[in-house]
Amino acid sequence: TGTDVTVLGLGAMGRALVVALLRAGRTVTVWNRTPEKTDTLANSGAHPAESVSVAVQASPLVLVCVVDDETVHELIEPVAGDLRGRTLVNLTTTTPEQARAMSRWAGAARVEYVDGGIMAVPDMIGGGDTFVLYSGAAEAFDRNRPVLELFGRAVFVGDDAGAAAMYDLALLGAMYAMFAGFEQGAAMVRGAGGTAGELAAMAAPFLQAMTGSFAEFAVGIDTPAQYEPVQSAEFTAAAIDTVARAGAEAGVPTALPIAVRAVLAGSIDAACP
Ligand code: NDP
Repeated sequence: TGTDVTVLGLGAMGRALVVALLRAGRTVTVWNRTPEKTDTLANSGAHPAESVSVAVQASPLVLVCVVDDETVHELIEPVAGDLRGRTLVNLTTTTPEQARAMSRWAGAARVEYVDGGIMAVPDMIGGGDTFVLYSGAAEAFDRNRPVLELFGRAVFVGDDAGAAAMYDLALLGAMYAMFAGFEQGAAMVRGAGGTAGELAAMAAPFLQAMTGSFAEFAVGIDTPAQYEPVQSAEFTAAAIDTVARAGAEAGVPTALPIAVRAVLAGSIDAACP
């Protein structure tokens, strides 16, 4: 008997996807390399399949969410025939080029391919502020949108299959740089007897307020000629130098502010010819 959706990969994220589907009353077939992980989901109503091939044949929509791109190929390529005519949504984190290669493979196998980038941790799946990026086969995305909206707002970013991964990784790059900066600041504060928790209480509202200037900063990047910087390049460079100097005084590594200065100097210089 067929189900609405098949989910391949029941790691932390795959399980969260299945729970969201079941909660909305969808019928779900599941497969995982380590079969024990299907047990709790089976108790919640999911249908475990004994092989990838059987799992794929069970539903018109197949989601794959495993550790990496290589594993997706290992799982999917042998079942190309079973996938033919179905929609494959790949929620595994990959690079844009890996997504495009997967899309080309799917095209040759007559599989409708949508690539996804989940902008959330498993706990956030189905939550109000959660969004997931998609790109690739627009028609298949539209048709399956009601299901995909169960995970969070479904945002289609174009028919280039690599687009979702590109925005995903662009956002992750910005996020990790922010966390690294926080960790560096916390080291400085802790060195003087304070706690990272104290800094966190200040950092959250401060950084949130700072994100309000992204749109204006973006004008400087997109159209430098139209940009009137709030702060001069010299001001910003001096401020970052002071951050590095404070780190050096406190015995905190200065590689990060030095790298930040080099990156920002490029865009600031471009913005202020
Ligand atoms: P987990 O480490 O929890 O799960 C990894 C999954 O991949 C498991 O189902 C595992 O199977 C499977 N797997 C690993 N190697 C193989 C293999 N050789 N053959 C078959 N299956 C294999 O990771 P997550 O669920 O957290 O992440 C899955 C994807 O989702 C990743 O691409 C990740 O980047 C992405 N993602 C995760 C987020 C998160 O916060 N967790 C956020 C956004 C995206 P087994 O159980 O047998 O080990």
